[in-house]
Amino acid sequence: MNIKILSRNTDLYSTKRLVEAAEKRKHNVEVIDHLKCDLVIERRKPSIVYKGEVLSDTDAIIPRIGASVTFYGTAVVRQFEMMGAFTTVDSEALVRSRDKLRSLQVLSRAKIGLPKTVFTNYSRETESVIKQVGGTPLVIKLLEGTQGLGVVLAETKNAAKSVIEAFNGLKARVIVQEFIKEAKGADIRAFVVDGHVVGAMKRQGKEGEFRSNLHQGGSAEVIELSDEEEIAAVKAAKAMRLGVAGVDMLQSSRGPLILEVNSSPGLEGIERATGKDIAKTIIRFIEKHV
Ligand code: ADP
Ligand code: GLU
Repeated sequence: MNIKILSRNTDLYSTKRLVEAAEKRKHNVEVIDHLKCDLVIERRKPSIVYKGEVLSDTDAIIPRIGASVTFYGTAVVRQFEMMGAFTTVDSEALVRSRDKLRSLQVLSRAKIGLPKTVFTNYSRETESVIKQVGGTPLVIKLLEGTQGLGVVLAETKNAAKSVIEAFNGLKARVIVQEFIKEAKGADIRAFVVDGHVVGAMKRQGKEGEFRSNLHQGGSAEVIELSDEEEIAAVKAAKAMRLGVAGVDMLQSSRGPLILEVNSSPGLEGIERATGKDIAKTIIRFIEKHV
């Protein structure tokens, strides 16, 4: 099979592992920088020109599109779809997953547990927003943030008011969320491939930090999911229509609450924590569908 990995950097752990896994299973694999693709759109013959050459036949692609290049990256994925290639992440699902608010709306419709969340455009009514999420402490999140940046814990009503007003003054869009204190600075990442959890880890924030992101100094260990957590992860990936997904959730007193569903989940943390060959699972997922 001819497999292309869309990635800006061949040295990234995830990219290297996917290349390795594809080669081990005797596929032709190539890493393509999506930002260097020109999309040629004409009647019945869509094609892609890469570094001056028309790309050869592609059976499947594995998009690893960073959040900052979602628009162009998605256009490239769509072009491959028009050319008949199978993709581990379809272009629509990719776009949907990059919009935190839209994702929460989709998950809520699928009756999946979520922290109660409010989106407001009207910063003068902060009191009401704070009341809706059950008062302080509460969490304020920049809609465009990733890797834990732009996620703020406001302990008091005054702090919450000033942070919400400051973000609004900067015309930054935020959501306000109830703070799940039982999570104790930890969250769970479940890696879902083709409707099954293929690995899960618990990430714990460093001392005194409520954010568990590895980018914020958190640490990870393998975890056995409860049935309820496993069902929630699979349901969330399905609601987002993602074949490959990193589902993040909090353990709360009312069961698992989904925080977000990542469409380009990194392999390094999960493979190291679980000792599993997740890259191989992704290649086998492609083999099953092409
Ligand atoms: P990002 O997409 O930037 O990683 P998240 O929404 O996943 O942002 O939040 C980052 C981290 O902050 C989470 O992994 C979790 O540990 C913590 N966190 C986020 N929301 C809440 C919440 N409502 N209650 C408690 N902890 C939270
Ligand atoms: N950097 C990854 C992304 O493209 C996320 C890393 C992770 O999910 O652990 O969104």
